[in-house]
Amino acid sequence: MVSNELDVLRGEIEKVNMQILDLLNQRGSIVQQIGKVKETQGVKRFDPVRERQLLDLIAENNEGPFETSTLQHIFKTIFKASLELQKDDNRKSLLVSRKRKPENTVINVKGELIGDGNTHFVMGPCAVESYEQVREVAKSMKEQGLTLLRGGAFKPRTSPYDFQGLGFEGLQILRKVADEFNLAVVSEILNPNDLEKALDYVDVIQIGARNMQNFDLLKAAGSVNKPVLLKRGMSATIEEFMYAAEYIISSGNDQVILCERGIRTYEKATRNTLDISAVPILKKETHLPVMVDVTHSTGRKDLLVPTAQAAIAIGTDGIMAEVHPDPAVALSDSAQQMDIEEFNEFMDKVRPNQFIHS
Ligand code: PEP
Ligand code: MN
Repeated sequence: MVSNELDVLRGEIEKVNMQILDLLNQRGSIVQQIGKVKETQGVKRFDPVRERQLLDLIAENNEGPFETSTLQHIFKTIFKASLELQKDDNRKSLLVSRKRKPENTVINVKGELIGDGNTHFVMGPCAVESYEQVREVAKSMKEQGLTLLRGGAFKPRTSPYDFQGLGFEGLQILRKVADEFNLAVVSEILNPNDLEKALDYVDVIQIGARNMQNFDLLKAAGSVNKPVLLKRGMSATIEEFMYAAEYIISSGNDQVILCERGIRTYEKATRNTLDISAVPILKKETHLPVMVDVTHSTGRKDLLVPTAQAAIAIGTDGIMAEVHPDPAVALSDSAQQMDIEEFNEFMDKVRPNQFIHS
């Protein structure tokens, strides 16, 4: 008899639970609609005055048996979950998101289809120093069957007294050498005002880590019809990285390649800490190709091969690394650049067997 009564009460609880569940989800859909209205009106999602009103309303109408404070605590949890729901909704609609575009973006740079599932290599010196220097690297790249030549002409140096790059003269050298070997030029642009002119020389515009949140530059790069290689800021979260790419795409250019290049942490054994898990996260959350820069992330030549292998294993679309004919005399990043022999060894070790270059 007693156990029968318990069963009945439990049955009632289940029914009420289902009603609460249904009501919570009904509330959730209204919250999503509110989120959309707020987005179009540019109104902030979190409204503390409104939240206070709702909590007061609960206090006024509470007839027990629960304490008002207990109920307010429960409702605050509901409010928080609702805010999260609006946030998720917002992210769902980002142009970079895979939810928005399920298929991979594949970017054609001189016949290299970045994002096609193969590993592509962006190699070249840290900075363009001379025609001969770039040519020697380009020649060895050609021999390896590679196409994507990198080199900095505008260098974002920590110290204003360090070599700042050759500027447009450097871009001209890159173009000349690239044309000689039928390669594509990847080079960093620092100033939005230089972008237009740089288009005559580069095939891929690189936006460096230090400029990942230079919103004017991002918007300018978004207004041109050239692929952009966007590097992760050294203290940027993955979400901030995605929003930076969103700036470019929402300005009209959907040819964006993301590049993980290590982030600042307390660890001193490497120059930066390579956030390897960023690769599958970005591949999952976005439809964009994701590369890994093994040179600037590690800052150590002895780690280039293992980190490149790890990047390939975890699904990167490409590897970036620096190569210099004589790293000892390089004007920047002297310690971390490979010489030609090391570059050839690197390629032998990391080139995936299934990937045959023509
Ligand atoms: C570079 O690739 O030349 C460079 C400066 O790298 P980062 O912006 O990642 O520091
Ligand atoms: Mn460098």
